[in-house]
Amino acid sequence: MAKGKSWVCPHCNRPVIIRDSDINNVRDSYFLPVNSQEYVLDMTITICPSESCGKETIELYKFLYDKDEGIYNPIYNKIIEPEANIKIFNCSTIPDVILEDYKEAKLIQNLSPKASATLARRCLQSMIRDFHGITGKRTLHQEIEAIEDRIDPEMYKAIMALKSIGNIGAHPEHDINLIIDVSPEEAYQLVNLIEMLIDDWYVARARQQERVRAITAMNEQKQQERKTPET
Ligand SMILES: [Zn+2]
Repeated sequence: MAKGKSWVCPHCNRPVIIRDSDINNVRDSYFLPVNSQEYVLDMTITICPSESCGKETIELYKFLYDKDEGIYNPIYNKIIEPEANIKIFNCSTIPDVILEDYKEAKLIQNLSPKASATLARRCLQSMIRDFHGITGKRTLHQEIEAIEDRIDPEMYKAIMALKSIGNIGAHPEHDINLIIDVSPEEAYQLVNLIEMLIDDWYVARARQQERVRAITAMNEQKQQERKTPET
């Protein structure tokens, strides 16, 4: 959680600005002899600056220390209070805005399923624009139609459903007597779909590029060996 940034508190569901004094951070490491690996645990406590709330959100990160590279690879990120499991994708090409919307959608899925569905919908729209390069459409509906031939029919239906349910939070019904709610279970399904799409699109593409690069590199090395006369 970055300081000085707008953040939606998972307790009161209000957007708040986090100051330095709202964040406490504890970090410690331990060594596991059985596999000779060093791990780091990072606990961040964010206290909601809203006077009527003031509750704490406790986040735990676990990292594996890579001695050769000198870097910390994230293993998981858990929101201990209020409880949520945030998936870590280990892929550098996913835009931060998408990861932030995903994380917030997950965090508030039980407290405010409607707001969670709205965030999941916004996340979907960002992904269609960024990953598929769709521009110049008037509505999310049209943006989804523009990628229909790139995804399988079942996934297309699921994405359209995410859009429609997310709409309930984004544009409340005109007739205020008609109340359509989003249940925590539905919000859970939508956030799950977002996780699946991040995996299927960004993570899969990065893996494929890595494999392709490995083959090209292998060939270059072979060609080099052919040029080198044997001694
Ligand atoms: Zn709060």
